[in-house]
Amino acid sequence: MRVLLASSEVHPYSKTGGLADATAALGKALAKAGHRVGIVTPLYRGVREQFPALRKLDWHFDFTLDGKFPGGEVWTLQPTKGLTVYFINHPEYYDRPGIYNEHGTDYWDNGERFIYLCKCVTHLARYLPWRPQVVHVSDWQTGLVPLMILHQARAGRWAEPPISCFTIHNLSYQGWFPGAAYRLTNLPTEYFHGQGAEQYGVLNCLKAGIAYSDVVTTVSPRYAREITTQEHGEGLDWLLRQRQGQGRLVGILNGVDYEEWNTTHNRWLKAAYSIADLQGKSINKAALQRELGLPIRPDIPLFGTITRLADQKGVDIELGALEEMLASGMQFVLLGSGSPLLEAAFVSLAKRFPDKVHARIGYDHGLAHRIEAGCDFYLMPSRFEPCGLNQMYSLRYGTIPVVRRTGGLDDSVIDAGDDPVGANGIKFGNYSSSALSEAIRKALSIFAHPAVLRHYQKNGMRANLGWDSAVARYEQVYIAASTPCK
Ligand code: ADP
Repeated sequence: MRVLLASSEVHPYSKTGGLADATAALGKALAKAGHRVGIVTPLYRGVREQFPALRKLDWHFDFTLDGKFPGGEVWTLQPTKGLTVYFINHPEYYDRPGIYNEHGTDYWDNGERFIYLCKCVTHLARYLPWRPQVVHVSDWQTGLVPLMILHQARAGRWAEPPISCFTIHNLSYQGWFPGAAYRLTNLPTEYFHGQGAEQYGVLNCLKAGIAYSDVVTTVSPRYAREITTQEHGEGLDWLLRQRQGQGRLVGILNGVDYEEWNTTHNRWLKAAYSIADLQGKSINKAALQRELGLPIRPDIPLFGTITRLADQKGVDIELGALEEMLASGMQFVLLGSGSPLLEAAFVSLAKRFPDKVHARIGYDHGLAHRIEAGCDFYLMPSRFEPCGLNQMYSLRYGTIPVVRRTGGLDDSVIDAGDDPVGANGIKFGNYSSSALSEAIRKALSIFAHPAVLRHYQKNGMRANLGWDSAVARYEQVYIAASTPCK
């Protein structure tokens, strides 16, 4: 098949979260499976300097945004066989210090920046000489693409339009903009209504993606069920139930890119290790403790979290549980950034427990690998979690995940209560500090029994969470989506 993906972030060119990892890895995995793949993404500041192999394509965008011609360039790179990345160069929109925001404030023109991106994706989908059969976009930033394709097809301007697949990586970010922003799409008002791109009088880009794509997917089976409920539906559960009723809502668990996230060939790690020889893990633990300025103690369990500091991630109950549990013998490292209040709370915790806690505020890809490898346990108490990647990275790194039973966390981690022999992590249910504390107590008792610890670690490292099965599921979905809706 010929598949054009599009995303506002793609690792290693840009990243704020799992969307970047998932898009890059899916693109690579589809290409490896023999498909012809393209990925469209903005050319952000610094990418051209970091990747000098980028080449300008002879391409001309002739569409308008409301009344004006925005222009723009396309630069390309072929990172692997069968995969081409198309970077949209429009410095006024994308040559900025941040991707979506600066100092915690969203860019005022995000609506325009990403409506423009949607138009570029649609233009490429239509005119690329290799004629994509599937256009697969993700989240609100590219949510208007399915509608743009549908409209051109309905208007008789696109004889054989591609299938559109829309993936929700996070339902809580919907891309709401004042109704006037809809003019920038140049679409007729017939799509701007309660069943379409409009909600409460404003433009909702994610809703347009759900309403107008041929098929909607999300990044785990459990999250696909959760978002059809009022509790997790973020005001769109009714529309998601409609799509589910048409057989057009599918949950596919993201995979792990093991070329990137592995413990045997990893430039970020002090020592390599594997399921057959875990000695290197102890070396990585000591190196991490040294790097963080924590006492180098193999006998003290080290817990870690790497996260956006946002409400979703459950860091409020994590702070509460740590207050209680730090009295026991444990160490904790946080790597994250986001809400200034939460950043301050972790910095203050580290000041009060300098021998037990290290808080690193910021973004550091290499340190993320070293935390995954050096910790004994990984804490992920999310309020909700569409898929979550770090718990899956933890499994491969022999770091036992302690997770809340929600979304993709529930789908990817096995608790002893569900399967004592296959257990590879600890799950808890209630969203409370005391429930998390209880789970941490279980972790401490596992740590106190080295044979049990090894059993959990090895089960985790053995888990096959690669992309192969996800690719096979997406292939089925692309094919099924080409038949008429129920
Ligand atoms: P989300 O997409 O909701 O942020 P995921 O668990 O799906 O959560 O993916 C998060 C990705 O971002 C992981 O690869 C994680 O390691 C990375 N990440 C998050 N915060 C940081 C940080 N401060 N430094 C380095 N990597 C980070």
